[in-house]
Amino acid sequence: MSVDQERAVPLGATAYWTASVRAMEYARPDRLISDPWASALAGDVGAAWIVGRSADRVAPIVLRTRYFDDFLQRIVTEHGLRQVVLLASGLDTRAYRLAWPEATCIYELDQQAVLEHKATVLARANAQPTCDHRIIAADLVGDWLGALAASGFDGRAPAVWLLEGFLFYLPGALLERVVGQVAAAAAPGCWLGFDVINSATLAHPYTQEWLAMQLAAGAPWIGTLDDPVGFLAARGWRASLTQAGQKDANHGRWSLPVFPTTMPGVPHNWFVTAVKDL
Ligand code: SAM
Repeated sequence: MSVDQERAVPLGATAYWTASVRAMEYARPDRLISDPWASALAGDVGAAWIVGRSADRVAPIVLRTRYFDDFLQRIVTEHGLRQVVLLASGLDTRAYRLAWPEATCIYELDQQAVLEHKATVLARANAQPTCDHRIIAADLVGDWLGALAASGFDGRAPAVWLLEGFLFYLPGALLERVVGQVAAAAAPGCWLGFDVINSATLAHPYTQEWLAMQLAAGAPWIGTLDDPVGFLAARGWRASLTQAGQKDANHGRWSLPVFPTTMPGVPHNWFVTAVKDL
């Protein structure tokens, strides 16, 4: 990605950053994510971003990815869902690097330039998807539900939806609109996962260095939700929360103190999972 392309694809560079984290993780013998294409996908943009970042610093991204890998696979296996919708999928390769039950279809939505880069790199590597895989270039703050339906998605059948590494880039009202849109569009029996920060994250001294990096790179964290469980309950969903460092999102990779998941006034970067009641 050139400097001009970075300007033309808002937040596009952030997809290269998270790919570089998966590349760093792939190099470890005790890897929690196995993405053999991550390094090529991350390219020069990702390689430049990861220089000097310690494994501890990027552990939240590793733990988030692994947590949602496990979530998606558990839901399709235990609940028999065969539609997976990855919103803002970026350069992630879940459709290639994870094993999916037969007849699983993964729908991926992101910006066209990001998806084109991914398709080019994966084709060059002769990577093969492990599921039916449909790619949809879309603006997720515009009208993308029509494009999803046009690609074959069955809105009446249950699906598992994921919004990962995206919501903190949206102003609060837009964040609520996007999550509300998914919550309303999903059929009863659907599952949903997303990560979201609370407002204390933007104010706490502990997070200022990271927030300054994001701001300087043109990708400020601005979107927060202080009560994801209540937000979803009002829309007919039962949600639960965890965060990096908790027992179900730890894997021996968390070296910092862990705040209780709903402790007020401290930063939270929650991993939210929810089901829409039948
Ligand atoms: N989920 C992936 C991961 O965890 O690696 C990608 C996360 S990356 C930090 C954020 C992604 O949001 C980028 O791929 C970017 O292109 C995408 N994005 C940002 N704004 C978008 C929009 N309006 N429509 C579609 N995708 C968008």
